[in-house]
Order: sequence, then C-alpha cells, then structure tokens
Amino acid sequence: MANAKRAFITGISGQDGSYLSELLLDKGYEVAGFVRRNAALDFGNANEIKDEVKIYYGDLHSPESIALALLDFKPDEIYNMASLSSPLGSFKDKVGTIIVTGIGALHVFERAKQIVPQARIYQASTSEMFGAPKQVPQNEDTPFAPANPYAAAKEFAHRMAVIARHDKQQPQFISCGILFNHESPRRGLNFVTRKITAAVACIKNGKREGIPLNEIGELIVQNGKLKLGDLEAKRDWGYAADYVELMWKMLQADQADDFVAATGETHTVGEFAKEAFAVVGLNSEDYVEVDQHFVPPVQTGPLCGDASKAKRVLDWEPKTKFKDLVKIMVHADLAKFS
Ligand code: NAP
Repeated sequence: MANAKRAFITGISGQDGSYLSELLLDKGYEVAGFVRRNAALDFGNANEIKDEVKIYYGDLHSPESIALALLDFKPDEIYNMASLSSPLGSFKDKVGTIIVTGIGALHVFERAKQIVPQARIYQASTSEMFGAPKQVPQNEDTPFAPANPYAAAKEFAHRMAVIARHDKQQPQFISCGILFNHESPRRGLNFVTRKITAAVACIKNGKREGIPLNEIGELIVQNGKLKLGDLEAKRDWGYAADYVELMWKMLQADQADDFVAATGETHTVGEFAKEAFAVVGLNSEDYVEVDQHFVPPVQTGPLCGDASKAKRVLDWEPKTKFKDLVKIMVHADLAKFS
C-alpha cells in the first residue's frame, strides 16, 4: 500500500506482538516481525497473520540481524516487545535474561539510531521494575527497586531508553510503556493466570491426554490438582488486547514519554483461581495445592497501577474488567483443551 506507515515488531510471536500486529494491520500499516528461527517454523501467536506480515529471522543477541532487518524494512515505528519475559524463570537464567531483555533492547536502540534515526520506538517496560513498592498505587514517578533478574534487565533497558531520549546531540523518540500484568488466551502457559485457566479447562473437561506442561516440565494437572506458588501475591491484571492500543497511541504523541498502563484494581492469585474455577461451577479450594517450587526467591508486589497520566494525555483507559478477563481466558481454554 503506497504511503502506508511501516511498523517493525520484535517478539511478534508473543502475546502482545500478535495483538499489536492485528491492531496495526487494521489501521492500514505494513507490519514486519522479528522472530527467532526454529525448526518447526512456528510463529506462535502470529501463526494466523503470518501471511499478512513480513517475517525477518533474527535474535536480539545478534545486533547484525537487527541491522539487516531495519536496513531492508526501514520502519517508521519500532515496537521492542522481544524479551525473556518470565520473572520466575529469570532466576534460572540470569545471564541470558540480562543479555536478551536488557542488552538486546539497547542493540535495538543503537541500530535504529544508525539506520532509521527518525523511527519512533516503543520499549516494553514493566511494573516488575517497582519490586516491592512502598507507594500504592504506583505511577511514572514511583522509584524502581527490581526484585528479580527480569525486572533488573528491564530497568536497564528503560534507563537506556530515557538516556537516548534526552541525548542533546541526537535525541531518539523512545517511549516506554510501564505495563502492569496483562493477560489473554495467548499468554504463555508458564504464567500463573494462564496456568490456572488451562488447568480449569482440563479438569472441567475431564481431560486425560494432551494436558499441557508447566514451567518445570510437569503436567499442569496431576491427580486432579493444580500446583501454584504464593496465593497471596497481589497483581493488577488487565487484558492484553486493551493494552496494545496504548502502545500505538504512545508513538502517535507529540513527544516521547513514559506511561503506566494498569487497571488500578488488585487481586490475589488465590482470587484469580477462585474466579476461574467458579466460571465452570467448581470450587478452587478442592483443586489448588501450594507448592514452594512456584514461589519466587524474592517477592515482588503488591502491584497496583495508577494509569491516570495515560488517560489524561492519551485518552486511554482499559476496557475489560477483571471478571470478564477471567471468563475470556477460561472459555478460550475450555475450547482449546476439550
Ligand atoms: P511473550 O509472550 O513472552 O513474548 C516474548 C517474545 O519475545 C516472543 O515472541 C519471543 O519469541 C521473543 N523473544 C524471546 N527471546 C528472544 C530473542 N533472543 N530474540 C528475539 N526474540 C526473542 O511476552 P508478552 O507477554 O507478549 O510481552 C511483550 C513484552 O512486554 C515483553 O518484553 C514483556 O517482557 C513485556 N511486558 C509484558 C507484560 C505482561 O504482563 N504480558 C507486562 C509488562 C511488560 P519466541 O516465541 O521465539 O520465544
């Protein structure tokens, strides 16, 4: 399409990358995605749109692969969504997390500066950077105190983005979305919300084969039970499809800035499980077991976001309520694990 804007998305096969691609395609963008080459040529969540987007193989480990894609596609907007995104998993791969999630983001900023200096960049920052905050709710001015390697890597990338934004000689338009947890049927099964909704579906459907594995390689449901970590951990959960709209709005603004995206409502993991089992008429207490393997060595939270700046400046607010989010996820998994 002549004069269509061009968006380049790292991590297009992830939850957010796929929703964002769909949004941008709807808006008439030409979209390209950066994916790691894998033997199965599986584009994950982007499988359904793989014929509508241009795929570049690469890895955030490799600045050269980023450069080659940018040179060829010449995007107007870059959304850096790629990361090793599990806070719990990051304790087991600290170096890999820092290299991909932290240094990888810097490679994207640096290559963009050389090759497409006018491109606007979205950096996927995270509420995990707040650690165990004293201030509730958290906003753009709340101090960072990461409590896991993932959050430390994200804080590094966030700070490098702000430094590049304020560079007097060659400022870059890099906006950071400090997003609180956002979920969907496309969330990885190594995240607690999706693990719960998949388990609810397997239990309700009486599934015996094809039960998915959890993050330590065990069946999500064993002997009719679902193992979870800290049931009291409090998070602010929104719907991913709502949050990608804010990412796009951030890059249409007059100037680069940081924005929190959140619902302002906090629920415990136990409450999420209770709500999810209730969708199918079951009582979570009959099915959930606490297992220390799923409790992180250092706790984060309680996390509760104040997204009033996004509302005031960009006229954005989340549409989907907690109970509706849980229903969307449970119903999708009932169909998937039937
Ligand atoms: P996700 O589903 O885990 O997707 C991460 C993506 O990064 C996947 O496409 C993955 O590709 C890709 N990736 C991983 N390592 C890579 C590497 N070395 N080189 C290139 N690509 C690589 O994450 P998400 O939930 O969509 O989140 C999107 C971004 O927002 C992430 O940066 C995440 O940390 C951040 N974030 C998410 C949340 C949330 O609640 N979802 C909140 C705040 C911030 P493969 O498919 O090949 O693994």
